[in-house]
Amino acid sequence: MAIQRTLSMIKPDAMEKNHAGAILAKFQEAGFTVRGMKMIRLSLAQAEGFYAEHKGRGFFGELTQFMSRGPITVLCLEREDAIAKYREVIGATDPAKAADGTIRKLYGANVGENAVHGSDSEASAAREISYFFAGCDLV
Ligand code: ADP
Ligand code: MG
Repeated sequence: MAIQRTLSMIKPDAMEKNHAGAILAKFQEAGFTVRGMKMIRLSLAQAEGFYAEHKGRGFFGELTQFMSRGPITVLCLEREDAIAKYREVIGATDPAKAADGTIRKLYGANVGENAVHGSDSEASAAREISYFFAGCDLV
């Protein structure tokens, strides 16, 4: 499997609870190298743009309000098979269904406020990384 990059976000709920440090440590323990990292606050329009694929879903308003309510940390993470491995480390979308030891099981509150985001495919990862990082920002 090739070296890949994936886009991670530590969502407002986890930032508010000061779980960002513990979550970053989990990513590093799982073999990910940080290529880009910054703390930002999304506007509602920026959250809507990021989650455009979910426009029309019943939870779109709730999701974009949530994602713009406070700071997030965005990370570009790299390792072998990063996209699939990252999804294993974070666990299922609904923390109640996530495997023991996964980040969403440990730090997620519910299916909406689930602590972290992760890209779901190579195409999504490319789009999502470029949404936040210019090529020259990745080290
Ligand atoms: P994932 O983040 O695991 O890729 P999705 O892409 O399906 O999940 O959904 C994007 C985000 O939208 C989820 O991480 C979660 O924050 C939110 N979400 C998904 N489903 C629901 C739902 N049924 N109710 C509220 N929020 C949801
Ligand atoms: Mg998704």
